[in-house]
Amino acid sequence: SSAEALLRVEQVSAGYGLMPVLHGLSIEVRAAEIVALVGSNGAGKTTLLRVLSRLLPCTGTLRFNRQDLAAMTPDQAFGHGLVQVPEGRQLFDRMTVQDNLLMGAFRRHDKAAVARDLQRMYQLFPRLGERRRQLAGSMSGGEQQMCAMARALMAAPVLMMIDEMSLGLAPVIVDQLTEVLAEIRKNGVTVLLVEQDVQVALGAADRAYVIENGRVTLAGPARQLIDDPAVQQAYLGV
Ligand code: ATP
Repeated sequence: SSAEALLRVEQVSAGYGLMPVLHGLSIEVRAAEIVALVGSNGAGKTTLLRVLSRLLPCTGTLRFNRQDLAAMTPDQAFGHGLVQVPEGRQLFDRMTVQDNLLMGAFRRHDKAAVARDLQRMYQLFPRLGERRRQLAGSMSGGEQQMCAMARALMAAPVLMMIDEMSLGLAPVIVDQLTEVLAEIRKNGVTVLLVEQDVQVALGAADRAYVIENGRVTLAGPARQLIDDPAVQQAYLGV
């Protein structure tokens, strides 16, 4: 169809000071897709998320939901539903789980809808329900990642970007988080996943982009990339 993708990144270049990191990178994310960005350490994945969150300037085209994302401030991008789950979670450690989740909804004024979404989060992540009064900083890494994802979802995102969802977590927890991604997508949330663990990323995503040295080197359906000899050799240890 000719419908514009939810997110369109075209020929984007960005870097830090004089050091270029992204070199004319292009990706697209369609509504209700789960898309993964994979690639080794330093490839530029986190830099791209910073560009999308508007924390880092860039050249090139950024379109989100038929609007010019490049013209938005970080706050405006958030207001348009572009919400990030940051690497390292960055929870409010000395606040309860519930207060962390409510912080995610700070922009929303419909109290009834926020209360409903809070209950939905406790259905989606029963562990968080059990621990709603516990301080976020006292929980396990997996529980903290659940809390960070739930906090982002409380913002009612259109596109949720997750940086290193699986980092340092046990496989059984990663499987649970992957199931949650499938569940939230059913509710219409689009997901952009940045992962160093290619196995996890390709297991969770519909499509993926391989990024190397600030450029897309391979792209396609996740199932197809899992079978790609170059991907297997470089990233899956086959
Ligand atoms: P990682 O998984 O390690 O985050 P990545 O693919 O996300 O890898 P980036 O974090 O985007 O990679 O880093 C890309 C390059 O930019 C690296 O060479 C990194 O050293 C550099 N870089 C990242 N952040 C900064 C910064 N704040 N100032 C200067 N250089 C930076």
